[in-house]
Order: sequence, then structure tokens, then C-alpha cells
Amino acid sequence: MSGSAKCSGGHILISHTHWDHIQGIPFFYPLFAPGNEWDIYGPRGLGQSLREGGQMQYTYFPVPLHECRANIRYHDLVEGTFDIDDIKVSTQYLNHPAITLGYRLEADGVAVVYVCDHEPHSRTLATGDGDITGQDLRHAQFLSHADLLIHDAQYTAEEYPAKAGWGHSSIEYVLKLGHYAEVNRIALTHHDPLRDDDAIDGLVANAEQNCGKMQLH
Ligand SMILES: [Zn+2]
Ligand SMILES: [Zn+2]
Repeated sequence: MSGSAKCSGGHILISHTHWDHIQGIPFFYPLFAPGNEWDIYGPRGLGQSLREGGQMQYTYFPVPLHECRANIRYHDLVEGTFDIDDIKVSTQYLNHPAITLGYRLEADGVAVVYVCDHEPHSRTLATGDGDITGQDLRHAQFLSHADLLIHDAQYTAEEYPAKAGWGHSSIEYVLKLGHYAEVNRIALTHHDPLRDDDAIDGLVANAEQNCGKMQLH
């Protein structure tokens, strides 16, 4: 976001419109403040979904998005590359029950990649075994040499078979991708909401033993 103490606008990249990814929007005052300028990017149809989709309907929230007094421009994205100021943004579809985009941001010689929510294409790879090929290889190439990879890691390989088709990754898959793509740092995210803090700490400690040269966050 641009602006300092007062937020006057900026750019928001949205992966998809599942509620766990957009539920902060109605409560984000800078989107409603007069004079603010926003650019919101997301998969094709996102603007219409945000305006007319369930979340902002009058039954659920009293202020419709079209009444907000900031100037909001929606940008429908498909796979490709575009620039936001001096940042090169690349997009690639993820494997998820809704149309979902991952984002790769490059500036000043570093790359940050955000890929959430995503499920391995190969169920063998999801359990941490097998070679990275086909669509999973394409996914790995999108992460190539990221300085920071923020990746879905909702399940463990052991838990995955019972969750197949839900659109999420296993930690083992993410570590395998990270090694292959020679990623510098990995932030595991989108944890299963049924886990408590101790359970997550345990998973991270376990992953740290298998992350090699990569730093884990
Ligand atoms: Zn989702
Ligand atoms: Zn999600």
C-alpha cells in the first residue's frame, strides 16, 4: 500500500473469493474513505463477485461496496505478467476448487511468491513421494529461486489422503517443491483451523529438520 501514517490507497492482490480470503474487506476503512484510490486485482469476475457475491449483500452487511467513497478500480486477471510501479507481477493458476491465482512479485533483484490455496496435482507428490512432473513441475517453476515463498501447507502427508480434493497442500510437498525450486525462505501458511499453537509449533519443528538450507518461517 502507498501512503504512510494515513492510508490513502494502494494495490490489493486477491487470490480468490473464498470467504477466508476476503472477509476483512467490509471492515477495512481505507476502502471506504473519500478520496482514497485503490486498485484491486484478482481472477476474472472478482469485482463482480465482491460487489454482488454473498459477502456484501444487504442481508450480511449494511454498506454495499458501491457506496464506498474511495475510488476502486478492479482488474480482472488471467495468467500473465504486468507491472505495478517498479514491481513485476506474474500470475499462475493454482489447483483449488475455485478459480485461484498465485502471485510472483519481483523487484530490486528479489522475488516473493504467494501461492495459497493450492493442492498438488499428483496425489503421490502430496504424500511427499514421487517426482515433480507435469503440472506440478510447472508450479515448481513458478516458484523458482524465490527469496520468500509463502505457500499453503494446511495438512501433513499423513493427513492428506482424507482431505484429497479440498484444494490444499501437505508440508512435505511444499518442502519438496522448495528444494527443487531452490527457494531461500519458506513461510508455511493456511494452517488447519483445528490445530492449536502447540500443534503448529510441533509441525514447524519437524519441518525444520527437513528443510536443508532453506529458512523456515
Ligand atoms: Zn480457498
Ligand atoms: Zn483459503
